[in-house]
Amino acid sequence: MIGITVLGSTGSIGVSTLDVIARHPARYRVVALTANRDVAGLLEQVRIHRPRFAVLADEVAAEQLAQRVQAAGLETAVLAGEEALARVAALDGVDYVMAAIVGAAGLLPALAAARAGKRVLLANKEALVVAGQQFVDAVSRSGATLLPIDSEHNAIFQCLPADYAGNPDAAGVDRILLTASGGPFRTWSPAQLATVTPAQACAHPNWEMGRKISVDSATMMNKGLEVIEARWLFGLGADRIQVVVHPQSVIHSMVQYVDGSVLAQMGNPDMRTPIAHALAWPDRTDAGVAPLDLFEVARLDFEAPDFGRFPCLRLAFEALRGGGDLPAVLNAANEIAVQAFLEERIPFTGIPRLIERALERHTASAPGQSIGDLIMIDEEVRRATERRIARMV
Ligand code: NAD
Ligand code: MG
Repeated sequence: MIGITVLGSTGSIGVSTLDVIARHPARYRVVALTANRDVAGLLEQVRIHRPRFAVLADEVAAEQLAQRVQAAGLETAVLAGEEALARVAALDGVDYVMAAIVGAAGLLPALAAARAGKRVLLANKEALVVAGQQFVDAVSRSGATLLPIDSEHNAIFQCLPADYAGNPDAAGVDRILLTASGGPFRTWSPAQLATVTPAQACAHPNWEMGRKISVDSATMMNKGLEVIEARWLFGLGADRIQVVVHPQSVIHSMVQYVDGSVLAQMGNPDMRTPIAHALAWPDRTDAGVAPLDLFEVARLDFEAPDFGRFPCLRLAFEALRGGGDLPAVLNAANEIAVQAFLEERIPFTGIPRLIERALERHTASAPGQSIGDLIMIDEEVRRATERRIARMV
C-alpha cells in the first residue's frame, strides 16, 4: 500500500486526486488530508477516506473540525496551522505527496515533502515560481522524485526521454512548445477586456478549476507562471520555451527535437489524466477519463500569443529573464491583484498594471537567496501592492 498526503484536498485538484485514488483502494491509502478553512468539505472527505490526520491551516476552523470529528466517532487526529501542513507532508508512513494548495502558501509544505525525499506530485506551480532553484536543489539533495501535475508539464514529461536529466542538449531537445487555451477572452478587444467581471473570468471554456487559476488563465498569467515552472522542471531557458495558443486544449504540450520531430501528448481536458499518470508512473492506471474521440474534436488550431492584449505573459517572460527574486515579485503582486479583482476592488486590466509596477519598483537580487529571504520579499510585495490598490480606489 502506498501512503499519500493530499495537500489542498478540498480544491479542484484535491477532489480529482481523491477521485483517482478511490478507484484503486488496494493500491493507495490516504494518510493525511489538508485544507485552508473548509470544515464541512474536509469532514466529508475524512468520513470517506478515514485518514490518520486532517489539517486545517485556520486554527478556529480546525477547532470546529476536531469537535465534529469526535462527535462523529471518527479516529482521525485533527491538527491546525501552517507547521502541521509541513509535518503531514513529511510523515514517515507517507510515500507520495500531492501538492495542490493554491499560491505561495503551498511552498513550505511542498518543500517539506521534497526535503523528506517523497514522491512529490506538484500541482502548486507557484512553489516553483517563487523558489524554483531552491526547490529543485532540495529535490536533488534528498533524492525526492518530482512529477508535474500541471497538464502541460505532465505532457512534456511524457514526451521527454525516460532518462532525461534536465539537460536538453544531451537529449536532442530543441525546444518546448507550451500550449495555451488562450482563456475565455482570447478574441476580445482591449476595450472589452477592461469590462471583464469575476464571473466571466471564472468561466473557462475547457477546464473547471479554482478561482485563482481561472483568473490567471483569463489574463494568461497562468501561462506565464507555467513558462517559469517549465524552466525549473526541464532546465530550458526562456528562449527555448515557446507558447502556442491552441484553443481546443487537446494537445497538452509538445517537445520539438533537433531532428525536426515534434512529440505531443493528447487527451481530453481532465486533470485526472496527469494525476493518474504521476500516481502510477512509470506504470499506467485507469483514471476514469473518457477516451479521446478525435472525430468529435475534428480539428486542432494553433496561433501565436498576443503579448499586447495579454501583458501578463510578457511580464512573466521578463521576470524569468531578469532572474533572481523577480519571479517571486511577479507572483506575489499577481496573487494580491487577482484577489482584489475577485473582490471587485480593481478592474481586470488593473492586474497587469499592478504587477508591472511591482516589478519596476524592485531590483532583482542575485540568484541563490534563501527561502526565508524569498518569503520576506513575497510579504513585502504583497503589502506594497495592497497599498497601491488602496490608493487606486
Ligand atoms: P482551489 O482553489 O480549487 O483549491 C485550493 C486548495 O488549497 C483548497 O483545498 C484550499 O483549502 C487550499 N488552500 C488555499 N489556501 C490555503 C492556505 N493559505 N493554506 C493552506 N491551504 C490552502 O485550487 P486548484 O484549482 O485546485 O489549484 C491548486 C493548485 O494547482 C494551484 O497552484 C493551481 O495553479 C494548480 N493547478 C490547478 C489546475 C486545475 O485544473 N484546477 C490545473 C493545473 C494546476
Ligand atoms: Mg496548466
